[in-house]
Amino acid sequence: GKPITDRIVTLTGESFTRPKNVIAPIGTPISHLIAATDTNPQSLHSVIIGGPMMGYRVTDFSAGITKTTNCLLAREVEVQPESPCIRCGACATACPVRLQPQQMVAALKGDALNRAIHEGLGDCIECAACNAVCPSNIPLAEWFRRGRFEMKERAREHQQASDARDRFEARNTRLERLAQEQEAKRAARKAKSADALNKARKAREEIS
Ligand code: SF4
Ligand code: SF4
Repeated sequence: GKPITDRIVTLTGESFTRPKNVIAPIGTPISHLIAATDTNPQSLHSVIIGGPMMGYRVTDFSAGITKTTNCLLAREVEVQPESPCIRCGACATACPVRLQPQQMVAALKGDALNRAIHEGLGDCIECAACNAVCPSNIPLAEWFRRGRFEMKERAREHQQASDARDRFEARNTRLERLAQEQEAKRAARKAKSADALNKARKAREEIS
């Protein structure tokens, strides 16, 4: 097969001066794509990667696109400031996998990744339905995206540590086996030379 090196990205939304589709190499900075629409980045209120529902807001235009970046949506809407959770439960009602997003985000904001995992972070499908209904404008899905990334990183590090431990134990076992084999060979050589000496001594005694 052929590796994916480019992808088609749709640049759309009323804030782009000249919306268009472009073919861009993976890793292209978002600022380059914005420049391709003849738009001043300073004039953009909100740029979303993905669609209006599932997408997430991006503020760092130096970030590169990935193989999943299919669309940049630049909206005229002012980003509403985030306010505290009022525990209305709308996010839990909207969640298609029946999670409690307000509990998970509280855990993540408190730096308690394990608690968020216990609350079901691993089952989140990052659909952002909770974001769309939150009256407090809490970027729930962005928290979950970051949390899930951290969770995967932690699992990867755990796996690497476990693989390293397995390799270390396998090496020790191999060295022990080699040492035992060498010891057995040494003992066999010693027994053989003792036997030869005995035979020579007996032969001398018979002659004398
Ligand atoms: S982003 Fe996760 S928590 Fe939010 S509605 Fe979708 S699945 Fe549920
Ligand atoms: S929808 Fe927003 S305000 Fe309501 S419980 Fe969920 S996080 Fe809190």
